[in-house]
Amino acid sequence: MNRVEIMEIPFINERKESLLNHIYQGVENKDKQFIVTANPEIVMKTRADKAYKQIVQSADYVVPDGIGILLAAKRHKTPLKERIPGVELMESMLSYANKHRKTCYFLGAEDKVNQALIKKINRRYPDLIIGGYHHGFFELDDAAIVEDVKGSDADFVFVALGFPRQENWINQHFPSFTKGVFMGVGGSFDVISDTVKRAPAIWIKLNLEWLYRIVKQPTRAFRVLDVVKFILLTILKK
Ligand code: UDP
Repeated sequence: MNRVEIMEIPFINERKESLLNHIYQGVENKDKQFIVTANPEIVMKTRADKAYKQIVQSADYVVPDGIGILLAAKRHKTPLKERIPGVELMESMLSYANKHRKTCYFLGAEDKVNQALIKKINRRYPDLIIGGYHHGFFELDDAAIVEDVKGSDADFVFVALGFPRQENWINQHFPSFTKGVFMGVGGSFDVISDTVKRAPAIWIKLNLEWLYRIVKQPTRAFRVLDVVKFILLTILKK
């Protein structure tokens, strides 16, 4: 599969549908797959934290989720085909699971968000099998959680603990699983449960989804610093 490196992180250079077909092929083969959806903040974190960098580099697919990643790739004359937002990957996987009666586990977000998500999934994807669910406030080495996920025999394990926590959890427990798609999905449970609204289509089209999130959740504003650093290092650097 075609990849483009940005700050030593190998991004997948595929259209969303083609990437999904590869992933579904893996699901049918009962493969184990680790997916990271990375934005500039995640790339900056890999610069600051070697262990985290190795974890992200070990993923089967690092997906470009963030316009900054696309701009950096273009600047380096190795343009990426398209931005692939993690929340859209998750929604496509939910539809696939619904259509093919696959099992999903939902790990993360606040308890009430997690429960609202499960209600929503039940309604919107009635044939998807909910293997289990748990909120995201626990110790990363909590064995009971891992056992619960294992017991579900899930084909898809969605992990919404924010970065780097979600990738750290997946990395720590991945070896003890035999199959499943493991994907860190950040704030996607908040969006799919209708707790937080995704930006209106026009903002997404104009590549301003990141700005919309800051306007709606000003506590995220400090993240802009990392994005600015990323831009300085990758886009403005000669
Ligand atoms: N979260 C969690 N456990 C934690 C910290 C965060 O379950 O210890 C959840 C939080 O409730 C939210 C998601 O992880 O649902 C993080 O969302 P955000 O949009 O901040 O994702 P990020 O951009 O940090 O990956």
